[in-house]
Amino acid sequence: MVSSLNRNTPSQPRIGVLALQGDFAEHIHMLGEIGIHAVEVRKVEQLFEIDGLIIPGGESTTIVKLLMRFEFVDQLRSRVESGMALWGTCAGMIVIARELADSYPTPLNLLDIGVSRNYFGRQVDSFEAEIDIEGIDGEAMRAVFIRAPVVSDVGDGVVKIASLDDGQAVAVKKGRVLASSFHPELTTDTRMHSLFVELAREAQIDTLNPTRNAEEISNTA
Ligand code: GLN
Repeated sequence: MVSSLNRNTPSQPRIGVLALQGDFAEHIHMLGEIGIHAVEVRKVEQLFEIDGLIIPGGESTTIVKLLMRFEFVDQLRSRVESGMALWGTCAGMIVIARELADSYPTPLNLLDIGVSRNYFGRQVDSFEAEIDIEGIDGEAMRAVFIRAPVVSDVGDGVVKIASLDDGQAVAVKKGRVLASSFHPELTTDTRMHSLFVELAREAQIDTLNPTRNAEEISNTA
């Protein structure tokens, strides 16, 4: 058995932000604020050089089209299945959903959630709210919603980690996959980015120590 002292000690987890369309620059800025030098991901090969990927807000139909055009879809699915952390914000949440209440785009089904686009309608298509997020300590977060979607249903094992006062789920998590309707990258509050960095750190530790899971299972047997 390999002792924990012999395990590789990770440096910072490697985070990428999908930079095909949308507000990727703001996510990169936020990660910089917490000491993470994130990379702009434009080529599918880069998925193999990162521990976590953020799909930003923007326009979900365009993002799905570009992911298909640049042949990201199969490799993205395989990286998520092998443990890479993933966070979709707003349009990114739409892109990774299982299904939409809307007729397009066709989402990638990387997280078992149903999503409704533009849920809040045109008259209130942008607003802010104070929300508590499970896993984030301290005061409520100020969440910015811009033509935001909501989570309409969740599959087995998907945890609702934030809801509006009316009970509408706006952030969910399953394993290392996170989705939020709102835009933490448009505030100065870095706590949600820190939460994601921790998920990417777990992915990094698994990559550096491929036998870790087997060892832990044998240790608890
Ligand atoms: N309403 C947009 C869409 O459907 C998402 C908006 C956003 O990312 N701020 O793609």
